[in-house]
Amino acid sequence: MIVIMNHCAGQEDIQLVIDKLEQAGFRVHLSKGVERTIIGAVGDRTQINDIALEAMPGVEKVVPIMHPFKLASRVFKEEDTVVRVGNLEIGGDHIQVMAGPCAVESREQLLEAAEQVKAGGATILRGGAYKPRTSPYSFQGLEEKGLKLLAEVREITGLPVVTEVMDTSTLPLVSEYADILQIGARNMQNFFLLRQVAKVGKPVLLKRAPSATVEEWLMAAEYILAGGNSNVILCERGIKSFESYTRNTLDLTAVPVIKYLSHLPVIVDPSHAIGNWRFVGDMSRAAVAAGADGLLIEVHPNPPEALCDGKQSLTPQNFKALMAELRVIAWAVGREMEEI
Ligand code: PEP
Ligand code: MN
Repeated sequence: MIVIMNHCAGQEDIQLVIDKLEQAGFRVHLSKGVERTIIGAVGDRTQINDIALEAMPGVEKVVPIMHPFKLASRVFKEEDTVVRVGNLEIGGDHIQVMAGPCAVESREQLLEAAEQVKAGGATILRGGAYKPRTSPYSFQGLEEKGLKLLAEVREITGLPVVTEVMDTSTLPLVSEYADILQIGARNMQNFFLLRQVAKVGKPVLLKRAPSATVEEWLMAAEYILAGGNSNVILCERGIKSFESYTRNTLDLTAVPVIKYLSHLPVIVDPSHAIGNWRFVGDMSRAAVAAGADGLLIEVHPNPPEALCDGKQSLTPQNFKALMAELRVIAWAVGREMEEI
């Protein structure tokens, strides 16, 4: 449930309500808006008397949250969450584009990709050091060496990095290097990992699992929020459908639906969704038009030679051309592409 405090409520009133809720075994999360304070309380509702709670000084209203996700819900927090990564804001007026290769392959490849995506207008560098591959015989990533390269290239280009963390054993190491911790689609419901990731406190990019409903996806986000980390960015990356021509089916309906249900920023990964570079531009434009807060796009200096996902990777030239088109779409929907 949420307890909406009225505009005259003082700190003492808020504290009394928190104490009351905690005594009844609730976990309390405070959301201080411009107009009023909202206290989110997660616990067993039979343990508290709503009417008595509503009678407490400073309390305007007690509202049950009907969704199973509570902290991720717009009912709990009306204003959009803006996740800060250095000077960048994800979920604000500006659209952020995260771009780079699927996997870090070498210093030359990563540096070239980073410089080219930066020149094209990307504000965040993506690149996997640990790769969740379908086949155990495929390239699995450079692991720690890949993380070190990401850090070096961040130093040179100034681009913050987003990289995937696959398990709890590598979490401390990946956390040392990443600016944003990516939870891959295959791990979206690895609840133990989500709990541990929440403790790190760095922004988390939570990809949607290929077969997850919007509700399951928001419940996964809830694990991170309930663990005390409110910096969650959702990423739609395509779901399984009967269609086999494309790698997955990009569910763009998720963008406005998430925006309606939740305050969390949502970005779109057209590369893994459609799986073919030819259509990445079309889906990127559609995503921005649909209200996405950003994009995650695979770009490789030489896609035919890529060790991973070359088929869906844009060349730097195509990426640059796409970014010019995206600026126009962003403007048309009242947003702006971030420029650095
Ligand atoms: C990736 O972004 O490199 C990746 C593996 O994506 P997903 O988890 O969406 O398949
Ligand atoms: Mn990939």
